Order: sequence, then C-alpha cells, then structure tokens
Amino acid sequence: MITKLPIIKIGLLIVLFAGCYTVPETGRISLNFIGTDTELQLGITEFEKLKQSKPISADPIKTGQLQRVGRRISEAVGRDLPSAQWEFVLFDDPETVNAFALPSGKVGVYTGILDIASTDDELATVIGHEIAHATARHGSERMSQGIAAALGALILNEALKDDKNRGQWLAAYGLGTGYAVAYPFSRRHELEADEIGVIYAARAGYDPRASIEFWMKMNLVKGDAKRSMFFSTHPSDIQRIDRLKAMMPKVMLIYEQNKGRFQ
Ligand SMILES: [Zn+2]
Repeated sequence: MITKLPIIKIGLLIVLFAGCYTVPETGRISLNFIGTDTELQLGITEFEKLKQSKPISADPIKTGQLQRVGRRISEAVGRDLPSAQWEFVLFDDPETVNAFALPSGKVGVYTGILDIASTDDELATVIGHEIAHATARHGSERMSQGIAAALGALILNEALKDDKNRGQWLAAYGLGTGYAVAYPFSRRHELEADEIGVIYAARAGYDPRASIEFWMKMNLVKGDAKRSMFFSTHPSDIQRIDRLKAMMPKVMLIYEQNKGRFQ
C-alpha cells in the first residue's frame, strides 16, 4: 500500500491539473497539459538554432512565393494561434521534401517540397496542413497522452527540459532533421490537420481543390526514396483523398466567399 500511494497521488494531480484544449475549427476536446509558454519558448529557440545550422534559400522567386502564401495563411489562422510570432523560412535543401510548423508560428519549408507543391494553391495546402498541426497542438497532445499513460512526470514542463523529450516533441512537429527519427503524427492527427488546413487555405483565398491534386501527386511519387521523409510521416492514400473530396462542398463555399479579396 505504501508504494502505491505516491502513484495515486501523482495520478490525482494529473487528473486535477490536466489541461483540456479545444482544437480550433473542429471543436474536438483534446488532452493537453504542456504549457503554451513552454511551446512558444521551445519553438523560438529551436527555430533559431536551425536557421543557424541550415542554408537559407537566396532564390528571390521561391522565397517571395513562400512569404506571399505564408502571409495570407497566417492571416486566415488569426486567433487560432494567438501567441504566434510568424516567420516563414525557405531552407535551401532540394533533397529534403519536407515542411514543418511550430506552435510559436515558426514555419520552415525545404526547397525539395516545391518540386511537388509548385503552385501557390498547392503550397497553401502544405503550409495550411503543417500550421493546422500547430494550432491543434498535436505534438503536445501526443506528449501529454504519453506522460499521462506513464504517470511518470510530476512537473510536466520540467520533462521538456530533458534533451530526449525535447527531441521527441520537436520531431513530432516534423523537425526531424538533426534528430535520429521523424515521428509521424497519428492517422487521426493527419486527417484532422487536412481538415483544418484546407479551411485555412480556402479562407486565405486559395483553391482547396489543390489539396486533392497535391496528395494525388504525393501518391505517385511514394516509391521515390528522395521523397521518403515527408511521405513516411504523411502517408497519402485513398482514405485521405476521399476525406478531402468529401470536404469540398463546405470549403469551396469558404473559398468563393474569400477569393475576391485577393484578386
Ligand atoms: Zn501532417
């Protein structure tokens, strides 16, 4: 009995202080007790490190495209990410087909993904999807679930000070470079990010049908080793494409209402 007592106490503490987070746009209630301040700080610090260690693209056309699409998407996100300090950086790495967004509003795109997401509408699909993972706080949710399951950490934000945990949190947001593994989001998180991301794109005046084209292109190149990193964390399949098709009537309405603002 004596040995069980601390575990019960820890369990009670977690139940009492467990944060619940309402995911924007879908309204799903998620388990999340990672502090937003911690997320913000981690995102800013790690993004700075990455900017110093990776070459940044000097291509004015591609950089201009990312800034143009990024600005419009970030405006469409608005209050869904209230403490965002928006920054969009194009990393010069044609071999890396990947992109990521952190809850701090820091967004990284590798030049390799522009081979597939070549138009503004397609790039809006990618950025919208990645930012949706951040506004839904999927990385922190998964970490919260892991911590709750283990009942292992009494001071939860302290847990993120540990190098191993921090690596997992960052890798969950697709910042796998520099760490051994990129951890894929769960299928549920992937589909939710598609759903939210396509709303952001449509609200920013980008054609949401480009999301279907993008994922169909991804499907075609899945055997290509060069593309394997993004593909391993973002499986493109019929279920994903079917879900997007089912969303089209709703998001086309949002697109029609907003596209005029940008013409
Ligand atoms: Zn994703």
